[in-house]
Amino acid sequence: MKNNIFRAILAVITAISLPLLISDKSMAKEMPPNLVIKSMYAGVAKIYGYNAVPRIYKPIRSGSNTGCGAMAPGNAIYCQIDHSIYITTDMVRMAYQYGDAALAYVVGHEYAHAMQNAYQFNSNNGSISELQADCLAGFYMAAVPNLVFDNQDIQEIRAFAYSLGDNNVWSQDHHGTPLQRVQAVTIGLGATNILACKI
Ligand SMILES: [Zn+2]
Repeated sequence: MKNNIFRAILAVITAISLPLLISDKSMAKEMPPNLVIKSMYAGVAKIYGYNAVPRIYKPIRSGSNTGCGAMAPGNAIYCQIDHSIYITTDMVRMAYQYGDAALAYVVGHEYAHAMQNAYQFNSNNGSISELQADCLAGFYMAAVPNLVFDNQDIQEIRAFAYSLGDNNVWSQDHHGTPLQRVQAVTIGLGATNILACKI
């Protein structure tokens, strides 16, 4: 994943005919977690015109206190009580097993919960809300003006979404099956209008 400014600079360099000196490895350089979080967060806030911006904290340890109680291991949440997003360092580690874009997806998903609430975009609850948050996360990633997601990033996002799916369809914590989660984020990634995620 790249900041847009890098893409512009790269385009200029490439135009000055040095493409062979830019290795694939440097193209695929991963952004560090705090920059991914900051960039996604700023980009999504811009999409909404900086309205109803939730607070976000740097990654915290599992078990840390939040406005919604202690963080469960390896989790990320949007807490409605203090209108804040919390992501554990374990979750960051899990995401980076796939890549930087997987963390952008997590930020987008939690930001989506805040916006479902603020904009009453949420016509249901449980796994339907979760899949809608996946769709919105995809839409955000496609729409944020300051980040560029390449094909590898898209694969990271889809693989991570698949891994986060569960088959506990009767559980209160059911977030959608692996396939449903991939489908939902893919719909968002291909959407040109946020209404594509309206359920
Ligand atoms: Zn969720």
